[in-house]
Amino acid sequence: MKMVSLKRHTARAVCAAVLVSSVVVTMPSPVTAGQSILKASFESGFDGFGARSSETVTRDSTDAYDGDYCLKCSNRSESWEGPVLSMAGNWNAGDTYEFSCAVKQNSGAAITMQMSLEYNGASDKVYDQIVTQMVPSGQWTILSNPAYTIPAGATGMALYVETTGNDKDDFYVDLIQSSIPSSYRKGDVNHDEKINTSDLTAMVNFLLAKSTADINTDTADMNGDGTINAIDLTLLKRMFVTGEHTRTTTTTTTTTTTTTTTEGSGKLQRIPGQWTHVADTSWINASKVVALSFDDGPFPANQGSGRAAAKIQDELTKNGFHATFFYWGEHIASNENEVKEAEKRGFEVANHTWSHPHWQNYGEQQAKDEYLRCKQALDRLVGEDREYCTRPPFLECSQTILNAIGGPAPNCGHDTQDWNNASTGSIVGGIQQKAQSNQLDGRVVLMHENYDTTAAAVEQLCPWLKQNGYAVVTVSEMFKFHNKELKAHKKYDTVWD
Ligand SMILES: [Zn+2]
Repeated sequence: MKMVSLKRHTARAVCAAVLVSSVVVTMPSPVTAGQSILKASFESGFDGFGARSSETVTRDSTDAYDGDYCLKCSNRSESWEGPVLSMAGNWNAGDTYEFSCAVKQNSGAAITMQMSLEYNGASDKVYDQIVTQMVPSGQWTILSNPAYTIPAGATGMALYVETTGNDKDDFYVDLIQSSIPSSYRKGDVNHDEKINTSDLTAMVNFLLAKSTADINTDTADMNGDGTINAIDLTLLKRMFVTGEHTRTTTTTTTTTTTTTTTEGSGKLQRIPGQWTHVADTSWINASKVVALSFDDGPFPANQGSGRAAAKIQDELTKNGFHATFFYWGEHIASNENEVKEAEKRGFEVANHTWSHPHWQNYGEQQAKDEYLRCKQALDRLVGEDREYCTRPPFLECSQTILNAIGGPAPNCGHDTQDWNNASTGSIVGGIQQKAQSNQLDGRVVLMHENYDTTAAAVEQLCPWLKQNGYAVVTVSEMFKFHNKELKAHKKYDTVWD
């Protein structure tokens, strides 16, 4: 998914102890553990970074990872040439720190990049790698080492970014950070050594700009990208779905503390190979819900249809919303990442059959084959044996088909007609009309992820729905929110069916 989406989220982590003067501060600022040492985002200067040798290091605003500027490194004649920072004063030899940065290169092929440390050893300069990683062309990639120990006795330390071998390609760097590693687990937002709904509440309140109480950057920034945003919330919620928040941790050598609450764990656990109505609705901060759902993906990233799909996903995430994506089995290989991203963001990954057939007259086995083949492709990407909500292609359904599929069949409570060349205005207008006549709450809305008109409509609808008291949720969440069980082998247009 495009990293540009991350820039849109305004809630941003702020460091307390700051080396650089040009840190971007966006209110509200969370209480931090006071552990950040460096956060260089190059918004108003070089933040202490310069060239190592004769290469050119400039501030660049064409495609920053964070904010408006990043550093560009060009005219390199050696692989070790890149932006460097003198680390005087803030880091101690022998101590352990977290380091990360975002890097990008457009060479057309993957190259190996690294964050490195230069220091004076006993007799000579020493160069050590903090993190080394393959970086694909054309996308921002995070280099990160959560616990790097600076060699004991090191002096004259400098932090720099470089490539390896004979590579001399230009590259970009942004959001270079270092901090003292936290002793708390990711997800323990309020640092009480438990991961429970209090952590969810603290993060939701922070994202809604209601409160900065109980928020800690080190544990709330789940993906370590330097901001606390809806993606972190999704990752935190995912710990509840997977039961990961109930994991036992050892806090001392003699005492084992179980960081457990039973909140959520039982009711959120899927039973493998069996339809289970799993949904976490604790994040929903609205009185009405609607399940926008998108058929026919995935589509290749960065092409027309794929761009529309990415826009839809980003708009949902930006608004803290979820939706259901009904995936067409034959399309999955073209962009597995879209499916994985949907899962990661808390969207509902769902089944739209393998080959999108007209299947009204199919026998049970034939229909089952269509469902199963797509299920297996999805299972591989979500990493578990799961039954899925299934949208019948062309909305063609029969009792035989319902018996054949492993989950419920959310069909169509409102047809946006986006598949039938409906304009953006008409897609938006149709949904607004339903909302204004109090008929949108609890309804399954049929859309497709591959149309620019649909993507533009979603961009208008998300903020409008929010202002009008709605949350956009997955089909499963919508039923749970309304205390209705979503049953396998049953067709639904609304939660009232
Ligand atoms: Zn379809």
